[in-house]
Amino acid sequence: MDPLMIRVAVNGYGTIGKRVADAVAAQDDMELVGVSKTHVSPEAFVAIERGYPLYIADMGERAAFERADLPVAGSVEEMVKKADVVVDATPAGIGAKNKAMYERAGVKAIFEGGEKHELAGFSFNAHSNYKDAIGRQFIRVVSCNTTAITRLISYLDQEYGVEDIHVVLVRRASDPGEIKKGPVDAIVLHPVTIPSHHAPDVKTVLPNTSISTMAMMVPTTFMHMHAVQMRLKREPTVLELCALIRRAPRLRLVGTYTGMSSTAELAEYMRDIGRPRGDMWENGIFEDSLSIDGRNLRLFQAVHQEANVVLETIDAIRAADGTIREPEVSIEKTDRSVGLHPME
Ligand code: NAD
Repeated sequence: MDPLMIRVAVNGYGTIGKRVADAVAAQDDMELVGVSKTHVSPEAFVAIERGYPLYIADMGERAAFERADLPVAGSVEEMVKKADVVVDATPAGIGAKNKAMYERAGVKAIFEGGEKHELAGFSFNAHSNYKDAIGRQFIRVVSCNTTAITRLISYLDQEYGVEDIHVVLVRRASDPGEIKKGPVDAIVLHPVTIPSHHAPDVKTVLPNTSISTMAMMVPTTFMHMHAVQMRLKREPTVLELCALIRRAPRLRLVGTYTGMSSTAELAEYMRDIGRPRGDMWENGIFEDSLSIDGRNLRLFQAVHQEANVVLETIDAIRAADGTIREPEVSIEKTDRSVGLHPME
């Protein structure tokens, strides 16, 4: 055990947890002490194949894991005691039940966007409020949609000042592996009322933002799409915006030359360029959609729900640990470790 390494446990090895575990394993300042599962599942076999110690939430299930030839390292409580920081990537609402266990063990915990802001008392986006997160015991990484919106606001606010933003979200119905939720054949208002929960959620990170959001759910598993309208304080040019998006570490310009106009093509492109699990960590902003009318900017951005919060979670671990105090240093380290380069 290296005292300079941050010992990280991932409680809940599902869609987000398995990606966070791989990203933790790729950091040179973190050590993955283990991951956890509730039941025998394909992901449990993946964890063992990757050499991650496997802990279980219910020790009554131990025999079932061992019958499946899945060695159990111990209980979740035992795993938590070995960590400096736990990432709670259990389904929405379970993190709230786990908080007392983290308090008892005296460990720091990062919750994901399915938990309420009040649970951690602090909602996080690396570009927006890394410094305010330094040393905190509990941090909540906001959801994939809120992450994408707060990123976009933070980058554009720095350059132009953001006066007001309105986002229409078209949401994927479920993740690709979630067979229990599909198939569906409808456009579901999510919810019917306006604003959707995203506007208040963005305000948990950026309290002074003037924002409204409306959301619909459609039968797809490939990413969300946002139609964004923003009023800036200063008029931009398309050329400047393209340069900013190319420079910004977690924004990606989906260039005219690619001919892409859908989430499906973007997902395929990510697989083709060899991204792990086909993950797109950045906001995919369509160059041809960039439209300027005075200080009003309109654009489409695609958001890969399974991927974008993973990088923010790694930065949140570092902020909680407190050794790296500059957001740019953590962001660059995280991105480099997974193989994300701004000009890729
Ligand atoms: P998931 O259902 O894919 O995975 C959750 C995992 O936790 C499963 O492996 C499950 O077996 C395990 N688990 C359940 N109860 C447990 C317990 N008591 N102890 C330990 N493990 C337990 O869920 P997910 O989609 O990865 O979501 C995790 C969190 O991330 C939620 O807060 C969610 O809102 C948030 N999030 C999800 C997405 C997404 O698109 N999937 C995007 C951003 C944020």
